[in-house]
Amino acid sequence: MLVNTSQMLATARKYQYGIAQANAWDLQSLRAIIRASQNCSCPVIVGLAEIHFKYISPEEIAQLVAVYASKMQTPLALHLDHGMSYETIVKAIRTGFTSVMIDASGLPYDENVKVTSEIVKLGHACNVTVEAELGHVGVGAEYNSRNADFFTNPKQAKEFVDQTGIDSLAVAVGTAHGEYNGVPRLDFDRLIEIAKMVDVPLVLHGGSGTGDDLLHKAIKSGISKVNICTDLMNKAASAVQKPQDKLNYADLGIVGEEAIIHCLEHYFEILECVGRAEDVQYVRRFEMVETDNKKGFA
Ligand SMILES: [Zn+2]
Repeated sequence: MLVNTSQMLATARKYQYGIAQANAWDLQSLRAIIRASQNCSCPVIVGLAEIHFKYISPEEIAQLVAVYASKMQTPLALHLDHGMSYETIVKAIRTGFTSVMIDASGLPYDENVKVTSEIVKLGHACNVTVEAELGHVGVGAEYNSRNADFFTNPKQAKEFVDQTGIDSLAVAVGTAHGEYNGVPRLDFDRLIEIAKMVDVPLVLHGGSGTGDDLLHKAIKSGISKVNICTDLMNKAASAVQKPQDKLNYADLGIVGEEAIIHCLEHYFEILECVGRAEDVQYVRRFEMVETDNKKGFA
């Protein structure tokens, strides 16, 4: 069933496990995420990043997700990853996304608060949950040259959450997007401090390549959602690039899909979300916004 991320992240936070946001970029990756979540009976968040709109549009993925979700018992949210503009976020909400991220983390603090607050107002009016980022999660290619100046400040994180009213906060504590140029190191003291001060679920971007032990420690230190994309893409690419004589194009798609399922199921185990689909009674998203359409049309 299609839901926003509110209940699933609140429950994950309460019981100290992690929900995976697995990014999709085409039909095959979307099918893989849905099948993996059903195999493991766990809630899952399908992410679509703006940089992947060239592969699949928000409209396409929203319609596909609506079809799959209507047949599923396990809760599923459709989330816009790294929404960079008001227009893109409005478009995602209008097409059926149940959750959005506004990424204004590159702006000065006051502007980040202003832009994020506007999106929260918009999202909440539509029963859509809003994630924002404070500090800045960079890219793995620059990992060794980065310093802790970009890390999330715990005291500022509390102010940010209070001022904006966001539903979840993406924190910069040492992970990076893409592949790491170096060995990942996480600032757990900082993470624990943020988790103590902030009363919304925390999100870890750049889960791929961080390593099982660090990710597991992260969910036990206050992270409730982990974003995964690069590993899924890489596993699918490696699987289809092996010599596969006699496989046609359609069968290659299935090979890629199976590789993503396998990779994601491993992440579900690390995040301890296997079997968590029935933790709470979920309300279908659209039941909460139904109105009597006949009024005004007599
Ligand atoms: Zn990210």
